[in-house]
Amino acid sequence: MSSNTKADVIVAGLGAHGSATAYHLAKRGKRVIGFDQFRPPHARGSSHGRGRVIRTAYSEGPAYVPIVQRAMQLWRELERESGESLLRITGGISMGPEGSPGLAGIMRSAGAYGLPHEPMTAAEIRKRWPVFRPTDGMIGVFEPDNGALFPEKCISAHLKLAAEAGADLHVDEPLLSWKASPGGGVEVRTPKGAYTADRLVLTVGAWLPKVLGAGDLSGEALQQAQGAQSQGGLTLPLRIERQVLHWFEPARNATAFLPANCPNNSWEFEPGRLFYCQANFGDGFKVAFHHMGVDMDPDSPPGSAARTVSPQEADEMRAALQKYIPDAAGRHIGAAVCMYTDTPDFHFIVDLHPVHKQVVIGSPCAGHGFKFAAAMGEILADLALDGRTRHDISLFNVGRFPSSKT
Ligand SMILES: Cc1cc2nc3c(=O)[nH]c(=O)nc-3n(C[C@H](O)[C@H](O)[C@H](O)COP(=O)(O)OP(=O)(O)OC[C@H]3O[C@@H](n4cnc5c(N)ncnc54)[C@H](O)[C@@H]3O)c2cc1C
Repeated sequence: MSSNTKADVIVAGLGAHGSATAYHLAKRGKRVIGFDQFRPPHARGSSHGRGRVIRTAYSEGPAYVPIVQRAMQLWRELERESGESLLRITGGISMGPEGSPGLAGIMRSAGAYGLPHEPMTAAEIRKRWPVFRPTDGMIGVFEPDNGALFPEKCISAHLKLAAEAGADLHVDEPLLSWKASPGGGVEVRTPKGAYTADRLVLTVGAWLPKVLGAGDLSGEALQQAQGAQSQGGLTLPLRIERQVLHWFEPARNATAFLPANCPNNSWEFEPGRLFYCQANFGDGFKVAFHHMGVDMDPDSPPGSAARTVSPQEADEMRAALQKYIPDAAGRHIGAAVCMYTDTPDFHFIVDLHPVHKQVVIGSPCAGHGFKFAAAMGEILADLALDGRTRHDISLFNVGRFPSSKT
């Protein structure tokens, strides 16, 4: 253990958002101590699977657009600083039934911010990408500026540069408990000791309900809080949702699935039911259902049923491919289980703790948060240091959940 036990800011959780936060804080010359229970990037949270979609005409609401635009800039800066290739523009086509609220949301955001986009009919889509087979009742919107992020490389880049800027990063060291002092400051405990700081940022992903539950409790109480919904005086309506990623070897026309030829593609095959795919970057054609998973305990160990993908799940995914992208439905060559941390409205929680203002809650997930991580690092650093940010994050306030005021 490092002898350093006092920091300006402690960052708990060093995945997508925690690594970015540690990086921004360290770059601003702050003393940062970061903890992760594992060794990021790892495959037990929400940020693995080698590809994430980045899209700008945000269907979930125009409020996200300036933040994702800032993230785009910061991902490019991170590429320059780290010398790594982290983001590849492929374009993206979203397809669904006429009248789909998701497609209408894309159009609204594109219109509000003047973003390039191209509405397309099913026939036009089939003509431009003959491997895609939208049915005649479907329409689409193509966005040329969308692309793919490589999440493990993004996290590694943020962590490496954070450490080079002086952040003290502790891996394989879980935060067991945290305590906010009434007069300011926090103390956290890990199996290796106690650490203090002026501020604490909680970027613990799917473990947020458990870690919030460990606030002002002893380490032993954290163990007992497993699965508890009451979170240190703060009750958040979070749901941890199991998600499965699949990789298929294209059966035919393999070149059509390479990044130069294949945009991100999403398919709302029934109202509100969706799967999405990314080009073959070397691991196969990636495909997953979105928000159709069951509840999951993030502490499910490797090899448990929750972390194992069944043959039936692979068959269901293949059946969807066979209908809409039959040339992609070759050999099933891999799968991974990942987790969404969902709110009821599927918007993020990024705010100060309503009771302990020295604690920042960073839960930008709801199944679509990775693309924002570069900007979220900046925002969470602002909140930790100043209690506010120039970015408009009013949509993500914790007070919108009535139970959070208890
Ligand atoms: C299958 C799947 C596909 C997705 N696709 C997209 C996409 O295409 N585009 C997009 O933008 N988003 C996507 N998302 C969402 C996005 O990946 C997540 O929102 C984002 O990765 C969440 O990052 P995080 O930092 O909150 O969590 P994580 O990266 O999981 O980080 C949390 C970290 O906290 C650590 N931790 C937890 N408890 C403790 C503790 N007590 N002490 C110390 N450390 C602790 C964990 O070990 C972990 O490393 C997808 C998510 C999944 C699961």
